[in-house]
Amino acid sequence: MLMKRWGILQGKEDNLAKDLKETALSFNKLGKKYGVSRQAVHGFCKRQGIKRPLKPKGHQTEECRLCQKLIQISKKPHSQFISSHTIRKEMGVKSGGKYLYHLRTLRDKGLVDEKFGRLLSKRAEKAYAIYFTKRLPISTIGWQVGLKNFHSVIRQHREWGWNVPPSLYVYDGRERSRIQSEIQRRKQR
Ligand SMILES: [Zn+2]
Repeated sequence: MLMKRWGILQGKEDNLAKDLKETALSFNKLGKKYGVSRQAVHGFCKRQGIKRPLKPKGHQTEECRLCQKLIQISKKPHSQFISSHTIRKEMGVKSGGKYLYHLRTLRDKGLVDEKFGRLLSKRAEKAYAIYFTKRLPISTIGWQVGLKNFHSVIRQHREWGWNVPPSLYVYDGRERSRIQSEIQRRKQR
């Protein structure tokens, strides 16, 4: 099979070698150009000992304005709790796809936290902003921002490994048992 494919290449080896040395075209693209498989091009390149030029550098995190802005936002305190909406707004980016590309690149490189940019709910963001700064019961905060289930939101985030610090509000025994029974009541529904 390989021989036959190689046969197609007969007489074109010099051109292929030239392309391999001088262009950054992928093996796949070169294979299509010369009517052979990607593997055949790869094999040829290896046998000939051809050193491929480095791929043209595309997106450079250090030079990308959006990436730098994302890193800057991610360094704010409790940045896991900044909603993607707010992040996009701060970046001045309307298109979600464009924003995600930069965010994913940074996550892959470990330059921003894996959880940064995952909070979608603006209400939850508002609730957390109060939670981190004010000494209020969780249910009161939820009520203030129109988030009925702030307790379960917190519980869910903790289960996902988000770093939710303890509430600033110190619950007395009565309040604690009221919340416990409320949680129980909801579970039974
Ligand atoms: Zn970028």
